[in-house]
Amino acid sequence: MSKNLPLLTIVVPCYNEEPTLDETTKELTRIMDKLVSNKKINNESIILYVDDGSKDQTWGKIEEKIASNRYVHGLKLSRNFGHQGALIAGLETAREFSDCVISIDADLQDDVEAIIEFIDKYQEGYEIVYGVRDKRDTDTPFKRNTALWFYSLMNKMGVKLVPNHADYRLMSKRALDEFVKYQEENLFIRGIIPLLGFKSTKVFYNRKERFAGESKYPLKKMIAFALEGMTSFSVAPIRLVSALGYLMVLIGIGIAIYALFAKIFSYTVSGWTSLMLSIWIVGGVQLVALGIIGEYVGKVFKETKGRPRYTIEQNSYLEKHQEKYPDLMRNR
Ligand code: UDP
Ligand code: MG
Repeated sequence: MSKNLPLLTIVVPCYNEEPTLDETTKELTRIMDKLVSNKKINNESIILYVDDGSKDQTWGKIEEKIASNRYVHGLKLSRNFGHQGALIAGLETAREFSDCVISIDADLQDDVEAIIEFIDKYQEGYEIVYGVRDKRDTDTPFKRNTALWFYSLMNKMGVKLVPNHADYRLMSKRALDEFVKYQEENLFIRGIIPLLGFKSTKVFYNRKERFAGESKYPLKKMIAFALEGMTSFSVAPIRLVSALGYLMVLIGIGIAIYALFAKIFSYTVSGWTSLMLSIWIVGGVQLVALGIIGEYVGKVFKETKGRPRYTIEQNSYLEKHQEKYPDLMRNR
């Protein structure tokens, strides 16, 4: 009877999450048990931890859970690939054996109770369910405001993001099958998902505080992440530079006319100030332009190499079910 129920995999990227994994496993197991006993999901459903090259004992902890918890399986990446890389590794792996996949952070800032609603929506026929933060009063005002500013900026540049949605979402196997066709190196996952189309909906929840460990997204990484998102999806920054260029040309013409008049009527001898100004302004604009163009050239460079986005070192699920996936084992 269990056979017809959907097999759910919860993908959890983990980087130095040793202090959170006990509690996280406990909570996720509770939700899994609830879903299984309510006959919402298959009892072979999985909690898939992806160890993203942690420096602490995260993998040891995961192995401990694999041994003691019937839902838990683990992937160990060969080094730190970053949140997005770890997530993709988990999603692509889970796609092989799951009917639907939910991604959630290891710190459980996202309310696990929403998973129940995710599954209900999936049963109603939605292929993608976005977890959306209702309030963000636990994030610092700074993080909240910069995030809002980022969404509106991205929107102006034509990138459709679901506001206040991070990487807490459900995807059906069908959506995942399409997702893996996006083979670009600079993958900004939450920008890609809305591009997939399919029937989708939102589930709202309150974002909590991280209960243990610390955030791996300091300001520097947030800025890098935002830049990545912008330059991966939009040529608006280049257009901005062009617009700035036109403006500079106009100002330049103005200055030229002024300089000409000044020379003809010779009521001034200087010119040094305006000259220096122009040199500095134009030089600055050129540098900005070069920098942004360089950003895109860098992306082209990376794409053309087509390197794999992650390397899996160990996959406990495959090892346990070798006979079911002979092809996958052979490709390793
Ligand atoms: N993470 C990861 N690799 C990294 C950085 C983070 O897999 O290089 C994971 C981390 O373990 C967590 C999730 O990504 O499960 C989100 O990170 P975090 O909670 O630190 O971000 P924040 O919620 O502060 O934005
Ligand atoms: Mg967090």
